[in-house]
Amino acid sequence: MSLVSVLLKPGEADRIVAGHPWIYSNSVLRLTAPVTDGDLVQVKDHRQRLLGTGFYNSRSKIVVRLLDRDRIEPNRSFFRQRIEAALAHRQRWMPGTTSYRLVNAESDFLSGLIVDRYDDVLVIQISSLGMELRKSTIVEVLKDLLNPRAILERSDTASRKFDGLAEAQGLIRGEPVGEIEVNLNGIRFLTNLAEGHKTGMYLDQQANYAAVGDLAKGAHEVLDCFSFAGGFALHAARAGARRVHALDQSADAMAMAQRNATTNGLADRVEFETANVFDWLKARTAVGPSEKVIPRYDLIILDPPSFTRNRSSVPDALRGYKEIHLRALRLLKPGGLLSTFCCSHHVDRVLFEDVILAAAIDTRVILRRVASHSQSPDHPVVPSIPETEYLKGFTYERVA
Ligand code: SAH
Repeated sequence: MSLVSVLLKPGEADRIVAGHPWIYSNSVLRLTAPVTDGDLVQVKDHRQRLLGTGFYNSRSKIVVRLLDRDRIEPNRSFFRQRIEAALAHRQRWMPGTTSYRLVNAESDFLSGLIVDRYDDVLVIQISSLGMELRKSTIVEVLKDLLNPRAILERSDTASRKFDGLAEAQGLIRGEPVGEIEVNLNGIRFLTNLAEGHKTGMYLDQQANYAAVGDLAKGAHEVLDCFSFAGGFALHAARAGARRVHALDQSADAMAMAQRNATTNGLADRVEFETANVFDWLKARTAVGPSEKVIPRYDLIILDPPSFTRNRSSVPDALRGYKEIHLRALRLLKPGGLLSTFCCSHHVDRVLFEDVILAAAIDTRVILRRVASHSQSPDHPVVPSIPETEYLKGFTYERVA
């Protein structure tokens, strides 16, 4: 089969040679023939050297999403090999886990495809036309490899519109599933895969739940901000923290977290409150000139949503991050720990730590960094594709 070639302008090949799989429309010099959206094409530099093959879509700003450096055929055996490799990576780096992101798009060299595994239920999310057209092949491969009880689709992300696709969700195969129980590090979480955030749970924090749980041993008072289903709060409680207070503005999330606490026999130590974290922290730290804030927490966790989706709103996001750190530091006991996370791709590790330091300086607090955190290994980081890295975090000890 002869493939249409997409020729790149001079100077546009370097990033691709370095391993980045996206060809932007403004990098393209010309096509050697007309192409139907969703078809496989080959990409070459302006000297006609092959850079790789991938799916074409004229409607997207990313006109080609490369799948490989060589010529491949995106058939059943191709998808089987890629998904098997993805599975092997999880088995190697997260042995013993039963719920994880099985395929993480670019991190697994399958741009446009996400597959989450919740025990024997799979949830797929497709964000490119090329993958959409091969959905039935992908579903067949998943069925052969894992024989799941059900495969659901949660392609209800706004990003689909960039590829000219409508949002889609529902049962693709197997029996209908409502609420299921997901086991993360031995803690049971009830989740409704049809309605939860993302494709259900925040799987990217699985390793950090365990790490922060370890840090909570011996803590008396723990504060978990932006708690959602209680991930950090319940790990802290199980580790032996005496009292855990968790906050989230979503009443549904707090109700679910409360049920999770009960299911795990931890309800006597954890308290869930529906509240806006900014307001809550402000109410406890904005005191009159003669009043003093009493630091009362041994461990504070900050895991907010991304405050920015694009580069232009980074300054606003930084103000938000600084605000919560300023207030949290005032509530943290000397000797206490702050575990803080940032899931915005546009705020990198260095920038994030700069903000934390600025807050520490303003509150006259000295911090000592005792741990660095990243996304769990089922969301692998490929350094040549910077977009694959988004979650970063640090744990600090408040020295004084
Ligand atoms: N720590 C959670 C994930 C947090 S996601 C976990 O590990 O699962 C971000 C959460 O912050 C969402 O549940 C959202 O409802 C909540 N949220 C967003 N803005 C908020 C605010 N201003 N105050 C309180 N909660 C907020």
